[in-house]
Amino acid sequence: MALNVEQATKRFGNFTAVDNVSLKVERGEMHGFLGANGAGKTTTFRMILGLLNPSSGQISWNGKAITYATSPEIGYLPEERGLYPKMKVEDQLVYLAELRAMPKREAKREIANWLERFEVPHYASKKVEELSKGNQQKIQLIASLLHKPSLLILDEPFSGLDPVNVEMLKSAILDFQQQGATIVFSSHRMDHVEELCDDISILDKGKMVLSGSIRDVKRSFGKQNVRIKMD
Ligand code: ATP
Repeated sequence: MALNVEQATKRFGNFTAVDNVSLKVERGEMHGFLGANGAGKTTTFRMILGLLNPSSGQISWNGKAITYATSPEIGYLPEERGLYPKMKVEDQLVYLAELRAMPKREAKREIANWLERFEVPHYASKKVEELSKGNQQKIQLIASLLHKPSLLILDEPFSGLDPVNVEMLKSAILDFQQQGATIVFSSHRMDHVEELCDDISILDKGKMVLSGSIRDVKRSFGKQNVRIKMD
């Protein structure tokens, strides 16, 4: 088992944001995490990454706790913009790659390849704030996987993007999975997870209501009459 979340709970004061959530993702799989706004997806991710301590429960990656701040094994695309607006794209990506122990020369080569792939090679010397939202998201995806992490956590990677950019990001994420990465990504759209994922989980008001293969989850949806408000 690669990623193992066991009965994780997170309370903020009297409010339980994540309630006894368990999740297993095998190495090399892509897992979709579905839920409406406020369901607890980001809080679960932040616990997986070691950015928040669970109030109770345990989380491990290959049998060990994760420390995102230092681990080159982990990549994270946060929901909120995680880039420095005034910094040039290439400088910023090199800086982030070096934090993850990637040599500068290799980082520069990989950055050029990724910018080329996303059809924005001329953005290397632009400031992040000069780019559109879709293009900033491409840079944020590059930042999360440039150092070739074995576990990649993507929080709403397609949110607010136009269909052309969604397709570009999807194809890059699928290719990255094919290189062996384990990927967990959140969304509030079934069509996005359906297309990409092996298994999915559905979170509602902090509780895991369904988890399994897309087929099983869809079947249970009908049987259990589970109703979840999603956009
Ligand atoms: P979204 O798509 O809107 O980000 P989400 O599924 O990622 O939704 P979370 O961000 O995990 O949901 O939030 C779950 C709940 O926990 C929300 O009601 C949120 O207001 C609450 N919450 C999150 N962080 C804190 C915090 N630091 N203090 C208090 N409440 C919090």
